[in-house]
Amino acid sequence: MEYDQNNVFAKILRGDLPCDKVYEDDFALAFRDINPQAPVHVLVIPKGPYVSIDEFSADATADEQAGLMRAIGATARELGLTGGGYRVLANKGRDAHQEVMHLHFHIFAGRPLGPMLEDGALPPGTNYRRS
Ligand code: AMP
Repeated sequence: MEYDQNNVFAKILRGDLPCDKVYEDDFALAFRDINPQAPVHVLVIPKGPYVSIDEFSADATADEQAGLMRAIGATARELGLTGGGYRVLANKGRDAHQEVMHLHFHIFAGRPLGPMLEDGALPPGTNYRRS
């Protein structure tokens, strides 16, 4: 998918839109989600123009990939998320409900986060376990 330079996170990276920044380095920016789903909900984004984990893992340089991974950990440490733990999640595409077409990792923390996927999202009787 072609990268849209006018997506909301591109505007934040250019300084055209404000953000509540919690961490920044040469490779990544982290800021609080505008519609938090947990007491701590922060987004970590690469500075390069990548739509999703698919493009990023295929096209980003090794430095960019290592830099983004380091930034996720650094952001969590900056936020003091050591004791209770946290969840890191990246949505890609329609089935995962990706809304903003610039790769972002969500960091959730500050409450028990429940099962990895909502049971309610599964049709009744669904069982994905391989027999
Ligand atoms: P996703 O569904 O993974 O694409 O998540 C996109 C996230 O971006 C949502 O959690 C939104 O609340 C968040 N978001 C959208 N616009 C902004 C913004 N201007 N500043 C911070 N977070 C935003």
